[in-house]
Amino acid sequence: MRLLEAVTSHIVVVEDDAGIGASLTRTLEGQGFEVSWQTTGAGALAAVRPATALVILDLGLPDQDGLEVCRRLRARSSSPQVLILTARGEEADVVLGLDAGADDYLIKPFRLAELLARVRACTRRVDGERDHLVAGDLAIDVAAHTVAVAGESVDLRPKEFDLLVALARSAGHVVARERLLGEVWDEHWYGSTKTLDIHIWALRRKLDPPGGASRISTVRGVGYRVDLP
Ligand code: CA
Repeated sequence: MRLLEAVTSHIVVVEDDAGIGASLTRTLEGQGFEVSWQTTGAGALAAVRPATALVILDLGLPDQDGLEVCRRLRARSSSPQVLILTARGEEADVVLGLDAGADDYLIKPFRLAELLARVRACTRRVDGERDHLVAGDLAIDVAAHTVAVAGESVDLRPKEFDLLVALARSAGHVVARERLLGEVWDEHWYGSTKTLDIHIWALRRKLDPPGGASRISTVRGVGYRVDLP
């Protein structure tokens, strides 16, 4: 039981070198982060959740270029932060990586202390900007996985929570159905899109005032929007 442990940020480590991957994972877990270690680009794309704070991304991966992974993450969302790892002498990759939407980079070999400093800077940025989402009387603490309406806590299932976070990060703007399906379920979603509508229905039932207007608007033919008051 680790009841007193502080709220953790989720980090995806993408590294096919077993030695580096294991040592990064151990170090970050030792600092209280929740870590998903992936060795392929496909695994990385599947492991990132709406609440993921940071992706530490090696550029040389067995199945695809890390730059492509970065581009695909950014095509989905402006979160999470991406920290690129690249071998020395590949400065051109760094420029390409920043162009592809990465937030920061480290040249290998790097010292763990330096990595941790960058990770803390990235996750602080995330904490400040993104970990508490507020739209009117709706308040979401992304890291703690809690939602409250007018101060009353609301129980959501995991996909309902992820869907609400994806909508709330763009509060006031419509989020396309395809993007919601990609961010919350999977990049390649071949199932019925009714799943999305059912989860929206569940969110409305749990979050909206009885008899009042819904805080989630349907934009016909496009997607959904969490409305700002
Ligand atoms: Ca590699």
